[in-house]
Amino acid sequence: MLFEPITMKKNYHNETLCVQEGWKPKNGEPRVLPIYQSTTFKYDDSDEMGKLFDLEKSGYFYSRLQNPTNDVVASKIAALEGGVAAMLTSSGQAANFFAVFNICEAGSHIVSTNAIYGGTYNLFGVTMKKMGIDVTFVDQNSSDEELEKAFRPNTRCVFGETISNPGCEVLDIERFAKLAHRHGVPLIIDNTFATPINCRPFEWGADIVTHSTTKYMDGHAGTIGGAIVDSGNFNWEEHAELFPGLCTPDESYHGLTYTKAFGKAAFITKATAQLMRDLGSIQAPQNAYYINLGLETLHLRMQRHCANAQKVAEWLEKNEKVAWVRYSGLESNPYHSLAKKYLPNGSCGVIAFGLKGTREDAIRFMDSLKLICIVTHVADARSCVLHPASHTHRQLSDEQLREAGVAPDLIRLSVGIENVDDIIADIEQALG
Ligand SMILES: *Cc1c(COP(=O)(O)O)cnc(C)c1O
Repeated sequence: MLFEPITMKKNYHNETLCVQEGWKPKNGEPRVLPIYQSTTFKYDDSDEMGKLFDLEKSGYFYSRLQNPTNDVVASKIAALEGGVAAMLTSSGQAANFFAVFNICEAGSHIVSTNAIYGGTYNLFGVTMKKMGIDVTFVDQNSSDEELEKAFRPNTRCVFGETISNPGCEVLDIERFAKLAHRHGVPLIIDNTFATPINCRPFEWGADIVTHSTTKYMDGHAGTIGGAIVDSGNFNWEEHAELFPGLCTPDESYHGLTYTKAFGKAAFITKATAQLMRDLGSIQAPQNAYYINLGLETLHLRMQRHCANAQKVAEWLEKNEKVAWVRYSGLESNPYHSLAKKYLPNGSCGVIAFGLKGTREDAIRFMDSLKLICIVTHVADARSCVLHPASHTHRQLSDEQLREAGVAPDLIRLSVGIENVDDIIADIEQALG
């Protein structure tokens, strides 16, 4: 297993890492990352294979746990985030589940902001609750005093999103990292919308980063996937009583202790050796190949997404049929100063806005769009739009929507990389 932490020095800028990091062919090897389309790997002697199963040696044996194509792509994402180790998962949902479940068990508790992706909200509030893991959702704009009240002796981590989906709120990562660390627990950040091109949460004290690579990293709406990256900075042993899974012997590996055996790679190694082994959810190597292609142009696409979204947001803000616009690049936005700190080069292509009028007016507007398509997806090269109240959140009443931080009239517009004049013209004609 490729369990050694990545010790690459960050000599290159992220633009160069996007293109060149990861696959490093040796003499005569293919220039482009090969897809290791194999469930299994061959060994000459039985003893060597045995050592792999005991985690005594690194090497591959079965693609439910690890695959070389995946690990190359994971190492590129780790380099982009400035982390020490990473793994790919079958989806963003799996990434967030594994990141939390790797340090939680029945009886544990987590603190999460409520401005998070609906799927993650359900994962924490419904499914993980059934597993005996309790969650307290907090408003990220609460005072420190308020936030302190959310913690319990069994709290194991704090969770938030750099830029929330779909509300476009910007998290004060540094403040949340300090809060988590005061309680001896790590901060896990879902960095899907910002991507490491626009924000690297480890630089602000976050300990673990997750991604739905389905979004900007793939960028072409072709491939579901997720990633977990460890900064290597959290000192698990200093809080060993909170993290017995990492700091005490694992009987399923002959009493090996992850922190002792793997140092800075302990978190990712445990997630691979235990969670991937027992729960599956690995990304198909073919999908990892596609994500790698996406990553090669991530830096270029993010620039265009941000430039286009900024123009569209400014245009919307001036339009009399538009009730409100939420985009952190706007000076009127309550998150503008946080965005200046955490997202100095731009946030992402996603804008939330509302029209004057009713839910029906929002639906009529969306149905009139010609270039911009109605899809569940977001963060695609193609501009797309979604009305959470009639789509992803349609089970909820207006009041429940507001509680979940989603205004009933909220339209989520994901601005693509087309010519911005065409995007604006389409919005203009649909507004009528
Ligand atoms: C889409 C999304 C997820 C879930 O990812 P999938 O790849 O769809 O499973 C998690 N977090 C955020 C912020 C997302 O946008």
